Amino acid sequence: MFRAGRLGWRREPDRPARLVVMTTAEDTRLVLWDIDHTLIENRGFGRLVYERIFPRVVGRPLRALADVHGRTELDIIHDTLALHGLEPTEDLVARLSAARTAAYREGEGELAALGWALPGAEAALRSLAADPRVHQSVLTGNTLEVAEVKLRAFGLDGLLDLASGAYGDDAHDRAELVGIARRRHRAVTGRTATEETSVLVGDTPHDVLAGLRGGARVVGVATGVYSVADLRDAGAVRVLANLEDLALVREAILTA
Ligand SMILES: [Mg+2]
Repeated sequence: MFRAGRLGWRREPDRPARLVVMTTAEDTRLVLWDIDHTLIENRGFGRLVYERIFPRVVGRPLRALADVHGRTELDIIHDTLALHGLEPTEDLVARLSAARTAAYREGEGELAALGWALPGAEAALRSLAADPRVHQSVLTGNTLEVAEVKLRAFGLDGLLDLASGAYGDDAHDRAELVGIARRRHRAVTGRTATEETSVLVGDTPHDVLAGLRGGARVVGVATGVYSVADLRDAGAVRVLANLEDLALVREAILTA
């Protein structure tokens, strides 16, 4: 059950005080979704993009891609350049990031054909979007521009408020993204999300740690490369195998 069932005294002019179930702004939730392997599966399109842009920007083929799971784009670009013995200068990182955005925009149709929204993702987003207690956005290692393409490719973009999100070029450290999302959510809605009312949903230990360190409740979803046990070991109290059971998803997110 949703924990909004707190009782409180409602005092109105010319009426005796009544004990009611409070549904105040404190009962609303900021739900921050990770994108890759939580909402969508890109079937290797991310690596394909790096294979395309690396020779163009750096002048040599991509030999290796840094670990991408649950990491921010800035970190992935830095480490990938380092793997090739290249200095990750600000200019080079910015040019690779811009090329990545352009490649995603050009490849949106290709991504849509190759990948899919994970089972239950759209139903979960749609259900929570219709719930007045919930404000949904993303907390992702992607840039805003790439996040938009990925969500739009699978028809999910209209179900989230991307202006309240935090992205991979906002900070190197994923935990910092929680505070950034909260500030943006406040600017957009005028409401203040707290540690108790912010919920981060993600598929990696990086997501779990970002929530624990950044100040959010965490719901792990084991639809990426990490298992339910991996996410529990990282500190997630609530872990789902997937998003397929809507009632379970809602319960986990609304009571996290
Ligand atoms: Mg992910």
